[in-house]
Amino acid sequence: MILPIVLYGHPVLRQKGARIDALTPEIRQLIADMLETMRHASGVGLAAQQIGRAIQLTVVDVTGVEDRPSTLHLDGREVSPNAHMPLVLINPQIRPEGHEVTGPEGCLSFPDVYGDITRPETVTVNALNQDGQSIEFRAGGLLARAIQHEYDHLQGILFIDRMTTELRRGLRPELDALQTRTKAALQQPPGLG
Ligand code: ZN
Repeated sequence: MILPIVLYGHPVLRQKGARIDALTPEIRQLIADMLETMRHASGVGLAAQQIGRAIQLTVVDVTGVEDRPSTLHLDGREVSPNAHMPLVLINPQIRPEGHEVTGPEGCLSFPDVYGDITRPETVTVNALNQDGQSIEFRAGGLLARAIQHEYDHLQGILFIDRMTTELRRGLRPELDALQTRTKAALQQPPGLG
């Protein structure tokens, strides 16, 4: 089922996600729905907060992004990222590494807002997958950027927080307008919005 994506201004985007203790049928269904929602929105990642749930769950899929390469190392060996997509990350822990690189980012919770964000080039990830198995890998390129962006969501951190002050100031009118629209929509009586 395609779920509605929560937009900037909704308080859940600022909540830290609770740890997931068990892969219940509800969580499994949520994973399936998040994958479907991410694909439908043509996103490379989606965090649980973005569909209104503050829990430690995110999905990532960089398949088909040809102009911004990704790398993936499993057990010290380089493998094809596409062969391991989509990634389902439960309770992820990350260790960003390497020098910082600047690249464009967008976010499904911020329609039509884009900006350059500086982040470490690679990241080592520990998480549980969709089967509850422990996984560890090292990602680079777009995949590393996407995972850091989604990990931030799980902590209640948004990509606008990582923009330069100057960039954020330039986007301020758009951000304020989006926030105002979202808050107004939240105040609609049920059934009318
Ligand atoms: Zn995002």
